[in-house]
Order: sequence, then C-alpha cells, then structure tokens
Amino acid sequence: MTPPRVIDERHSPPIPIPATPNNQHPAKRTPKDFRFGKVIGEGSFSTVYLAKDIHTSREYAIKVCDKRHIIREKKTEYVKREKEVLNILSSNVKATAPFFVKLYCTFQDMDRLYFVLSYAKNSELLPYINKVGSFDITCTRFYSAELLLALEHLHSLGIIHRDLKPENILLDERMHILITDFGSAKILETEPEIKEEGPQLERRNSFVGTAQYVSPELLTDKSASKSSDLWALGCIIYQMVSGLPPFRSRSEYLIFQKILKLDYDFPDGFSQSVRDLVEKLVVLDSSQRLGAKDGDSYSSIRSHPFFSGVQFETLYKQTPPQIY
Ligand code: ATP
Repeated sequence: MTPPRVIDERHSPPIPIPATPNNQHPAKRTPKDFRFGKVIGEGSFSTVYLAKDIHTSREYAIKVCDKRHIIREKKTEYVKREKEVLNILSSNVKATAPFFVKLYCTFQDMDRLYFVLSYAKNSELLPYINKVGSFDITCTRFYSAELLLALEHLHSLGIIHRDLKPENILLDERMHILITDFGSAKILETEPEIKEEGPQLERRNSFVGTAQYVSPELLTDKSASKSSDLWALGCIIYQMVSGLPPFRSRSEYLIFQKILKLDYDFPDGFSQSVRDLVEKLVVLDSSQRLGAKDGDSYSSIRSHPFFSGVQFETLYKQTPPQIY
C-alpha cells in the first residue's frame, strides 16, 4: 500500500473523532511509521492490514477506514463509538481478562482514518467452530469461561457490546480470545437511559446487532441491557457445542419470529450440563437470565455446574485446550 499523504488533523475534514490518549504524544504516528503488508480482512467500509512498526518491528493490525464511504453509509456514529469504546478498554486492561483487541493509536489523512490495533494472529473463532463442526466440552468450557470474564470486565466498565458473535471473537497467537467490533456498543455511563429511542436508532433504521444473536428485548422494545450480551453468550455456547446458532431460518424476519417464541431445540447428544446453562441464559425475560441480578462478577454463572473446576483467575495464563 502506498503510504498516503499525512496532514495536520486540524485541517482534516470531516469526521471529528475524540482523541486517543496515546495520540497526545509529541511524536504522533503516521502511516510512514508502519510497513503495510497483506490485507487480513475487509469490513463494509474498512480494510484491515497486517503492518509492522518500522521502529520496533512489532506487528499490528491496522484498520483503514474510508472517510467518504463512512459518511455516505451514515456510519460516523458507529466509527466514533468504536473508537470511544476501544479507548476505554485500552486504558483499562484487566490483567486477568485482557480479552479485547487493544487500540494503540489512531491517525488520519485527507481520505482515511487509521486504527492501530493488536493483531489477532489466529483470526476469528467462527471458522474454528465450522471446521471441527462442534467443540468438545473442554474447549467449550474454556472459551465460554474466557467470554464470561470478558463480559464481566466489559459490563463493569458500563459497556454493552450488543453484537457479540463468533465472528467478533478473534484469537491471539496463543489462542486466547480478543473481542472486537464495538461499533454497535452502548456506553451506559454517558447514556444512562436503558431504553433506546430517538434519532440514533432511527438512523440505524433497524435492530442493532446480528439477527441470530439478537436478544428479544431489542426486537420488541428496542431496549438493551447487559443481560442482552448474556443472551448472546448463551447462543454462542450453544453454537460451540452444536456447530450452529440456536435460531436459524432463511430470512431475518423468520429468525426474529423464532427468537420471540423461543423456538429452538437441542440436537441429540447435546451435553446436559451445557444445555442447562444455555436454558438459563437464553431466556425471554432479560431480568430472569442467569447473572442478570449479579453485580460486577457473574458469580451465579461462574458457579453453574458446567464451570465447576474452572480456575477463572488464571485462565489467561493457561494454555488453551486444543480445538478438536
Ligand atoms: P463490518 O464493518 O462490515 O461490520 P467488520 O467489523 O468485520 O465488518 P473490520 O473491523 O474492518 O470489519 O474487520 C474486517 C475483518 O478483518 C474482520 O472480519 C477480521 O477477520 C479482520 N480483523 C479485524 N480486526 C483484526 C485484528 N485486530 N486482528 C486480526 N484480524 C482482524
């Protein structure tokens, strides 16, 4: 990639995104500080490159967003939100749950925004599930436990992800999870109202999230709470065991109908203890989901028999089980 011309941000139209703490260093990074390598992914308005810091040789994933495309697609709020959440998470890394992609710095030129992110060497969780068809219980337990710790931390910071799914769970070089994609997230501190109304949602013009993992409360009254992520957690745990998400159909509309009727079933041979956990998370009434009444730690989920024996505090130091 040809390093684009870098201009002073003061003259850079037209997406005012909040400053990253790392941005304030006198030696501000520019694309010239990195050697851009292969494309590792494409989003609807972004391309993600593997890049090397020419000074340290450290590898990063640099997400390059096209400003005009963002404006055309009315995604400005989405990009701002993503940066805001990544900033919060990157300055609040929890040693026992470093399960989020980290934002190192951002910069921009006339046409593009650059997000310098930690590189998730092993890409997304989804192809691993698809490749093996279903995870064994050890793998399911390990990755469910990491997800639970990640949600505890995210929620304790007052952030709801709202689009948790296996495509947004990346894997680092040691195969630990790195959650990404915070454009649909909600920050409760700055938006204490749980009920989602007003122009922001109208602009999105539909639900927030992905059909298969969207919680019923988002469909019925456009409201989201931390418990909405617990619903998604239940769906992902189900998918790890069965290979597919619980609510499936040929159209989004039909998926929504199934979600609202809690119309799903368990395939033969589905582990009884996982089934019990899923049934306690995938519950229509968000206040009745396991963990919904817990504080910052999801102790009622942690103490579910499925997690018996899991050493939550040392998960990140453990070697993840081989995926079969
Ligand atoms: P959309 O914007 O359409 O919702 P997206 O959020 O997946 O899509 P990007 O964030 O640009 O878009 O990511 C595109 C792809 O790049 C992802 O699907 C993922 O596979 C890969 N990717 C993103 N971030 C990283 C990262 N930090 N490390 C490794 N791969 C990444």
